[in-house]
Amino acid sequence: MTPKKEKYDFIIIGAGPAGLSAAIYAARRNLSTLVIAKQVGGLMILTHQVENYPGFNEISGYDLMQKFQDQAKRLGVEFEFGEAQKIARQKIGFEILLDSGKKFSGGAVLLAFGLSHRQLNIPGEKELSGKGVTYCATCDGPLYRDKTVAVIGGGNSALDAVLYLSGLAKKVYLLHRTDQFRAESGMLLRARALANVEIRANTQVAEIVGDKKVSGIKIYNSQNPEVKEELDLEGIFIEIGYEPRTAWLKDLVGLNSIGEIIVDNNGNTSVPGSLAAGDCTDVVFKQIVIAAGAGAKAALSAYKYLTSLVR
Ligand code: NDP
Repeated sequence: MTPKKEKYDFIIIGAGPAGLSAAIYAARRNLSTLVIAKQVGGLMILTHQVENYPGFNEISGYDLMQKFQDQAKRLGVEFEFGEAQKIARQKIGFEILLDSGKKFSGGAVLLAFGLSHRQLNIPGEKELSGKGVTYCATCDGPLYRDKTVAVIGGGNSALDAVLYLSGLAKKVYLLHRTDQFRAESGMLLRARALANVEIRANTQVAEIVGDKKVSGIKIYNSQNPEVKEELDLEGIFIEIGYEPRTAWLKDLVGLNSIGEIIVDNNGNTSVPGSLAAGDCTDVVFKQIVIAAGAGAKAALSAYKYLTSLVR
């Protein structure tokens, strides 16, 4: 359903737990509310099984987010799919420009777009993204049955991917830039015991090679960069953590040294009428239920701000 208008009381950027909870709370306060997002659910839809959201013993991230969205829609929240690229402060409120060229204005705005996959930023990564370069083993793993793949990273995400892919792929390389792994030792032990897994520590990827799809990667030893090698493979899974993508907001709101949006206890940023909630903020605990609560709080703060304007 495309948005019915261009002006809203409240515009929410992001449709994960924080954004959708805020939408539900805002709609129940009769604020006309638009959610702008690339897709519903954010990174949550990659979560195979959620076992810590109260009320559900277990539910997939996708199903949980569908329930959030259904509830928001039932309350009249509207959705626009696209990427917000610019937020401009107006005399009253904010104007949001999307990658499609569409513009929407809102009396208050909530930044709730979560985290993005960290990228290696090496040659070939962008060009071959979706053509052998992937950031999601759960989503794309089955495409690499009986093929040779590499997983990059040394945290739980990387090890999770290795353990999953080892059951599908012919061979899995795990390439990590140091010899210190952040992953739980039990996961590492299980990976080391697998015949089709080869773990290479102190290994950096310099380039991803391929014409129309990935055909290999160029690697080097981080202790001795002269030691170089090229590995033939068909898939590369980049599992090196997450980061807030907030550079585009640096002139609007206060950010901390790692790019998270600084919020007070009620979700207010440094700019009145501009709120933030969830994993893109400086909240320490990045958890679904915490993001949902922060979204609800931010919506109530937006309501308070908007009603203070008409008094
Ligand atoms: P982490 O931040 O834990 O690990 C990121 C890994 O990627 C590190 O080994 C880091 O290396 C490496 N890395 C970062 N940047 C680069 C780069 N530019 N080039 C090469 N390597 C790089 O992220 P995860 O995604 O693994 O985990 C995030 C959170 O999610 C953690 O709290 C984790 O425990 C949790 N999680 C839990 C799971 C589970 O319990 N099953 C599954 C998945 C995630 P270095 O150490 O050198 O910095």
